Amino acid sequence: MTNPTVENLVIIGSGPAGYTAAIYAGRANLKPVVFEGFQAGGLPGGQLMTTTEVENFPGFPQGITGPDLMDNMKAQAERWGAELYTEDVISVDLSQRPFTIRSQERELKAHSLIIATGATAKRLGLPSEHQFWSRGISACAICDGATPIFRGAELAVIGAGDSAAEEAIYLTKYGSQVHLLVRSEKMRASKAMQDRVLSNPKIKVHWHTEAVDVVGKGNMTGVQVRNNQTGEESTINAKGLFYAVGHKPNTDLFQGQLELDEVGYIVTQHGGVETSLEGVFAAGDVQDHEFRQAITAAGTGCMAAMLAERWLSSKN
Ligand code: FAD
Repeated sequence: MTNPTVENLVIIGSGPAGYTAAIYAGRANLKPVVFEGFQAGGLPGGQLMTTTEVENFPGFPQGITGPDLMDNMKAQAERWGAELYTEDVISVDLSQRPFTIRSQERELKAHSLIIATGATAKRLGLPSEHQFWSRGISACAICDGATPIFRGAELAVIGAGDSAAEEAIYLTKYGSQVHLLVRSEKMRASKAMQDRVLSNPKIKVHWHTEAVDVVGKGNMTGVQVRNNQTGEESTINAKGLFYAVGHKPNTDLFQGQLELDEVGYIVTQHGGVETSLEGVFAAGDVQDHEFRQAITAAGTGCMAAMLAERWLSSKN
């Protein structure tokens, strides 16, 4: 890999997966180039830039804020020689090697590519959603369920699939009661998960029920719901509202160039990082619809960088 105009490795994304890949690739002397993107709130750093305390990332017994954690990862990537561009990639051409990666500002060629573009939790667009996001509304029970304000409080979950069932069951550890809001007369979750939900005395399922808005001063204190059969409206005194209505992986750029599953996640092998194309690896939430945690994203970022290094060496 001696052609100086072709990068060894380009990484797309600056969440835990992208920066971890950059740290490992930098330490392996690959001089990785990172397109950080700035999709989440106009900043690099990915989804954790939109949260406050991260209590479950190992090494921070008192917790750390999402932005501080991401600033640390970024500084560590820079320390090991990663070149960072705060630019969104607007197109890629993976039809031949070296691959071509373009932003508004530049076009690069690279022998290998790590895709770490993450996923975006779907929102419902409730009128007060923005105001109460992270002040009661969350898209991750495992991340936020243990927050002190939720302990012993009534909580609500929206959704009807396996994730909604799992989140509702998980939240019974903390909430006094969990209200599961299901839009129709049945759930999409597996029979086993439904049985666990329906037999749990702390979960109350509200069929034919949609959230209309959330209310509160500062933090949320209730969710307004409507029965879509009767039109009747009421308020559930929940202090937390957890969306489990799906995620959208950020893979539009790769449609038709890589194997994606039916929802759009990148299909991967070898512990979850090898894509359908040699030399292209994927890490983090963009290929993981199951765990979606910072630590798993960082872990697969490490694996992607190590496999990219091995792959590059094998081509030398
Ligand atoms: P992301 O963090 O989603 O980063 C993706 C990156 O790709 C972003 O930088 C984005 O700008 C970039 N990108 C996308 N498209 C392009 C493009 N075209 N060009 C260039 N760049 C692009 N997990 C925990 O473990 N603990 C928690 O406490 C926790 N709390 C959370 C709180 C909130 C509010 C949210 C939303 C998530 C939380 N999570 C938590 C989940 C965690 O944030 C994710 O699992 C993790 O960030 C995934 O990392 P990632 O690197 O795969 O992707």
